[in-house]
Parts: sequence; structure tokens; C-alpha cells
Amino acid sequence: MTTLSLPAGARERWVRTGGVELCVAELGDPQQPTVVLVHGYPDSKEVWSEVAARLAGRFHVVLYDVRGHGRSTAPRPLRGGFTLAKLTDDFLAVVDAVSPDRPVHLVGHDWGSVQSWEFVTVARTEGRIASFTSISGPSLDHFGHWVNARVKRPTPRRVGQLLGQGAKSWYVYLLHTPLLPELAWRGPLGKRWPKILERVERLPGGAYPTASLPADAAHGAWLYRDNVRARLRRPRPDAYAHAPVQLILPEGDAFLSERLYDDLEQWVPQLTRRTLPARHWVPRTRPDQVAAWIDEFVTSVAGGRPAPAATGRRAERFGGQLVLVTGAGSGIGRATAFAFAEAGARVIAVDRDAEAAARTAELSRLVGAPEAWAEPADVSDEQAMEKLAEKVHREYGVLDVLVNNAGIGLSGSFFATTTDDWRTVLDVNLWGVIHGCRLFGARMAERGQGGHIVNIASAAAYQPSRALPAYSTSKAAVLMLSECLRAELAAQDIGVTAVCPGFVNTSITATARFAGVDEAEQLRRRQRSARLYGLRNYPPEKVADAILDAVAHNKAVAPVTAEARGAHLLSRFAPGLLRRIARVEPRL
Ligand code: NAD
Repeated sequence: MTTLSLPAGARERWVRTGGVELCVAELGDPQQPTVVLVHGYPDSKEVWSEVAARLAGRFHVVLYDVRGHGRSTAPRPLRGGFTLAKLTDDFLAVVDAVSPDRPVHLVGHDWGSVQSWEFVTVARTEGRIASFTSISGPSLDHFGHWVNARVKRPTPRRVGQLLGQGAKSWYVYLLHTPLLPELAWRGPLGKRWPKILERVERLPGGAYPTASLPADAAHGAWLYRDNVRARLRRPRPDAYAHAPVQLILPEGDAFLSERLYDDLEQWVPQLTRRTLPARHWVPRTRPDQVAAWIDEFVTSVAGGRPAPAATGRRAERFGGQLVLVTGAGSGIGRATAFAFAEAGARVIAVDRDAEAAARTAELSRLVGAPEAWAEPADVSDEQAMEKLAEKVHREYGVLDVLVNNAGIGLSGSFFATTTDDWRTVLDVNLWGVIHGCRLFGARMAERGQGGHIVNIASAAAYQPSRALPAYSTSKAAVLMLSECLRAELAAQDIGVTAVCPGFVNTSITATARFAGVDEAEQLRRRQRSARLYGLRNYPPEKVADAILDAVAHNKAVAPVTAEARGAHLLSRFAPGLLRRIARVEPRL
């Protein structure tokens, strides 16, 4: 079995405390703010390798094997050796060794988070913790109060919540049985665990877990036995956090229900919430995202700002995500880049107009993107797109959201449209989308942690018109491509949306081509259509809003503007009427 290892340059040492020796690893410059990463069950500190490597450039990163795990020794006897009080002693001993003079930024996953909640809510650690990022592991005290509140005042909804979380906690009951977990972990379960994680959790294959897994898992059963029942029965009444907390909530967590955190604000005065469409093991599956959120949170707290700039529902959903928008130099693309930036996403603005893309990236940073980059590329150029994808994956990571927006307008009857006209419009409007989906979608699917692809079609995709045969054909193809791809990628949790705007006030009218007319007439028609679009005056910001909404709700088709919605309804229920409207020659 291949095993995980720490990033190159990690410095290991031992810290002695309470009869055990803890293996502590450090990375990065000790002068920088210290980030302490605490692993969960059944893991060892190596679970953080990918995240630690990403943080080491800016922070002093510290990881340690929890007692009885990895290279740390186990307490004797095991029973009573894993109480939260003893785990707090360990944490303080590690902090004394690695950062005696400055408070540390704490990050915990799974049981690492459960115990970190104890650290951040007991009095003796006050002043030692600057911030806490919690991933997939609640405070046992908060959990106890949550259960009590629902048992004491049961409404049908609250009973449903209790049963929901109860069903997700099946493994906790099992871990309380004597000896059985130890036998399973040291036997068949220990062997099969990597494959189970690969299949169920979509962890990258080949390098999991560390060789100490059977012993870690057997020892770690005492984390549950020593703490869970006692705490749930008598939760502490004063479990208030004394440092700002960032909660990262994977929406597809098989072990924890989102409802568990409903009452969290009452325990945490400064709470930043993040949600992530992912499963339980995000330090392994989403290291880019997790590292970006830790970086942002720690930087803002260390800089004296109470919480990262972007807050609210959108920030919870998109904050820190990696989003690429094509045609981001103008109109709908630029507005979409800004909307994602305002939600705290990291934005890659792609446009064939390099200057316009650079401006979008610059403004994206100003409105809230923690990072934004401009990448000039022509979406119709396959080689350029391949180069772009290669660079994006190498330097920024796998995309969470791809918006294939770049497009051009072309008007004119079928016989006025030359083959060159057809090629140009299909190359950009259809092939541009195909290249984007193929090159970025493949890596999204390979990563196995979901994502979303938005293709900007148009109401013209389902509303025929004698004036727009080439444009409408390109958009109808984009709509069907989106539907087919949506079916193909559903199993990988990747949503695909075709967005279909009506008339939107952008520069498209200034660049659209009118086939079959001379230059003077071309200019006149452009001006006239610009005037009409101006009169309709539907802003691209509203389309951007609809795009974020469509991603958040995983819509298949999203018509935007009243006329687009109306035509969509007609195309389903009165197509004959649409066909009649299609015969009308627009007077421009
Ligand atoms: P726009 O002209 O304001 O912006 C389009 C951007 O795409 C420009 O920055 C342009 O430089 C870029 N672009 C064009 N071709 C490119 C290429 N080959 N490679 C890279 N970048 C390229 O137009 P818009 O209205 O914002 O249009 C955006 C999308 O919305 C298009 O796909 C368009 O068909 C679609 N749409 C627009 C409307 C509308 O009324 N404006 C309606 C329905 C659909």
C-alpha cells in the first residue's frame, strides 16, 4: 500500500506530555503566524499534507499526531487516556513548544475539530488561540444542547432533525461496543479502508492511508468511548468560543447533518460560515479550497479585521471557490466575474481582449475576490484553450465553476449568411463552449468532488427567427450540449446549466455582424439595435445574479428576462405561435 507522506522540508520533533510523546511536524517560517492543524479519526497528521504544503509559503504550519495515532505514543491504559481534558493538555504542550509567545490559529477536521472546539471553549486556553477553523466535527457540548432542545420541545421538524442526525451517527454506536471495532480495524476493515474511501468518499486513489491506520483506528475508538456519552448527557453550559470561528461545512457530509449547526451563533460571537459541495474528507479532496479559506480567515484575523470581506448567503456558497469566466472582458461575462468576486470567489477572467480581461481581474479584486487573474485567450482556438487549461490546472487548480460565456452576434437571413460567417459564429459560440467543457470539465470529473458548468446560450436557442439562423443554431446547439453533458456528469455531482437570456444591454450590439448588407447599413443597424437594447435596458448584473442562483440551485435551463421566460413557455405549450412569430421580419 502506498502511504501518504509529509511535504518536503517538514521538520519533525517530539513533545513529551502526560505520559505520551507527541510527534510534531513544522513547515514554513516560524516568524509568520502559526497555524496548527489537528487531524481526525481514523487519520494521522499526514491527512493534512496537501493543505499544509499550500499554507507553508505564508504561514508557520504545525501538525501533530494526536496521542495514540501516527508516530505519537498511546497512553496506558487506553481507557480514560483520551479524555478531552487530556487532549487539551496535549494541545497546550504543543503550542508551548512551537509558539510560546503568540496565540496560534487552530484548524481541526473531524475529531480534530471536535477536540479543537473543547480547546477554544475552555478558560485555560484563553489567549492561546487567535482563531479556529472547524471542519466536519461539532462541539460535543453544543451537540448535547442541540439534542436536549429537540428532546424537550419536540416539533415534527425537530424530531425529523434528530432522527436524521441519529441515522448519520450509526458508526458512533458501533465504536462504543467493546473490542469489535479493534478487531475490525486490525482485520478486514483496515485492509479495505483505502478502497472504501476511494469509492464512497471519492478520495484520490493510491496514497491512503498511513501504515499506522489499524493501530490509529483501534486507539481512536477511545476518543468516542471516553467522551461522547458523558458529554452528551451533561454538556457544559458555558461552552462559548473565545476566538473567532470559521465553520466549513461540506454539504455532502455522510456523518453530519447541516442542521447541527443551526444554533451555533449563540455559542460563537464571531462566526464565519462556509459551505462546500463536497463530502467528509475535504482536507484530502479539496485542499485548494480549504487552504484558500484558512489563508483568508487567518490573514483577516491576524490583520485585525473581524471576518473576511465577503459575507452572506452567496459567500457561504461561493467564497474561496475557483471560478473561470470566458468573455469576462465585457457585458454579462464581466458582471458574472464581479458577482462571483463579491461572493469571495477566486476569479479567472478570460477574454480575447487582454486589456479588458486585466481590467475585470483588477476590479474583481477590488470588489471582494481574494485572488483574481486575467488570462487572454480566444475560446475558438483549440490550441490556445489547451494551453490555457494546462496553465490554470498547474497554477490555480481544478475549477469549481466554469462559465462558458464568450459569444458573438450574427444577424442576417440564411442565404445572406456566408459559409465564413457560419464558421466564425460556430467557432466562437459552439466550439468555444465545447473546448471549455472538454478541457476544464474533464479535470472536474476526474477530481470527483463535483463542480458546475454554466453555458450561456440564449432565448434564441428555443425561439426560431428568420433573422438569426446562424446565431440561433449555435445557441440551440449549446442548449442541447448542456442537456447531454448534464446527463453524463450527473453521476459525478457536476451540474450543467444552460442560461438563456433575452435582450440584455451590453456591447454585443456594437460588435454583432449583420450579414448581407454594406458597411453603412451595417453601422446603421448596429446603432439602431443598440438603441433598442438600451430602451429595453435589462442590465447584465441581473443575468449574473441569475447565473449564481442557477448554480446554487443546480438548474438545468435558466431563461432570464421576461421575454426569454415567455418564449420558453410558448416553446413548450404553444410552439405553433412561436413559429408564426419567427416569420416576422424584424425592422432594423
Ligand atoms: P459582449 O460583447 O458585451 O461581451 C462578450 C465578450 O466576449 C467580450 O469581452 C469579447 O471580447 C469576448 N469574446 C468574444 N469572442 C471571444 C473569443 N473568441 N474568445 C474570447 N473572448 C471572446 O456580449 P454579452 O452580451 O455580454 O454576451 C455574452 C454572452 O451572452 C454571449 O454568449 C452572448 O451570445 C450571450 N447572450 C447575450 C445576449 C444579449 O442580449 N446581450 C442575449 C442572449 C445571450
